[in-house]
Amino acid sequence: MSDNSSNDAFSPIPFLRLDRVLKEYGGEIETAVAETVASGRYLQGSRVRDFENALISQCGARHCVAVSNGLDALRLMVRAYIDLGRIKPGDEVLYPANTYIASVLPLTEFGLVPVGVEPSETDFNIDFTHLESRITDRTRAVMLVHLYGNPAWDADVCRRLHERGIIIWEDNAQAIGAESPVSGLHGSNRTGSLGDAAAFSFYPTKNIGALGDAGALTTSDSEVADRVRTLAQYGSDRRYHNITQGYNCRMDEIQAAVLIVKLKRLDSVSRRRAEVAALYSDLIANPAVKLPAILTDRRQVWHQYVVMCEDRDSLKDHLASAGIATDIHYAVPPHRQPCYSGLLRGDFPRTDRMADRILSLPTAGITDDEIRRVAAAVNSFQRPQNDTRPK
Ligand SMILES: *Cc1c(COP(=O)(O)O)cnc(C)c1O
Repeated sequence: MSDNSSNDAFSPIPFLRLDRVLKEYGGEIETAVAETVASGRYLQGSRVRDFENALISQCGARHCVAVSNGLDALRLMVRAYIDLGRIKPGDEVLYPANTYIASVLPLTEFGLVPVGVEPSETDFNIDFTHLESRITDRTRAVMLVHLYGNPAWDADVCRRLHERGIIIWEDNAQAIGAESPVSGLHGSNRTGSLGDAAAFSFYPTKNIGALGDAGALTTSDSEVADRVRTLAQYGSDRRYHNITQGYNCRMDEIQAAVLIVKLKRLDSVSRRRAEVAALYSDLIANPAVKLPAILTDRRQVWHQYVVMCEDRDSLKDHLASAGIATDIHYAVPPHRQPCYSGLLRGDFPRTDRMADRILSLPTAGITDDEIRRVAAAVNSFQRPQNDTRPK
């Protein structure tokens, strides 16, 4: 990547360079936006339909409904299953305790009972070896989250869940383009089509990001797709005919036009992220810093490159003093959020321990030179001698 600032060994390295990401598309995005503006059609046009078809081809699901954002995709998905009588308030849904809160909000919004499962320290995803022990006779669904771009799928466990009639939802906000080694319930091995229905987010910082909010629902179940489309459009199945009390959750034509351009480059986006991760993993060598696993049995898309360190806050400060911005995904898990105080049952010591140790390094729009600087700064970190904080 050519960018003058990357040659300056002292310029700050921000966590994200979305300006550089935009440049990778060489003006195509600006052209797509300008054409859409000139078209005079801003909602419910051909670009949204074309994008839905492109996402279907990408992930292998049978149906797609483009919507307003990732949280709305999750909300409409859950509400559709409730409307169709497949799940009801009071039913339990398993979810990974270390996920972003948006995976859980739609469950409690519709009266479902989230039951947390600890993550695996290898891939940060729900620990499939613990999952089945949390099933009760009220368990009706599981929300799989492909966190940090790591596909979460265990063929044997998922087959047994499916055979017991447990719905498998995917939160695919972070893993577009990722692949499981084996195919899911419907023949494709891409995230977003492994389970019964999936939600995507195209928030600007995701691997494929819009110029604002956008999301999508995919499913191989035409009833679910129809219901989500209806719910996203005021609850109307045809014009001015409302069969259910719905919402307005449409994606607009400008975002669809942008996403059509971006989706075409998904493979090179994923490849570059894998290169960034491989370079970090080659260059970082510090006994105080644990690197994320490079998994050879599946395709990771590296939404985040997450290291773990017992003195995470000191490491974060050390990098900040070298001008390097980092982030934490996520410092406070859902069960510790004030809005869920006393509401999300269970103790999650592994989730809590990981939340204190994880640190995300910059990955989007970063140059190889910058990666070398970040790695050198990580390598020069030393654990504070006088650190008496409990481990
Ligand atoms: C970003 C994200 C969401 C929410 O998507 P929005 O488009 O921001 O509403 C949901 N789940 C996960 C895991 C996410 O990373």
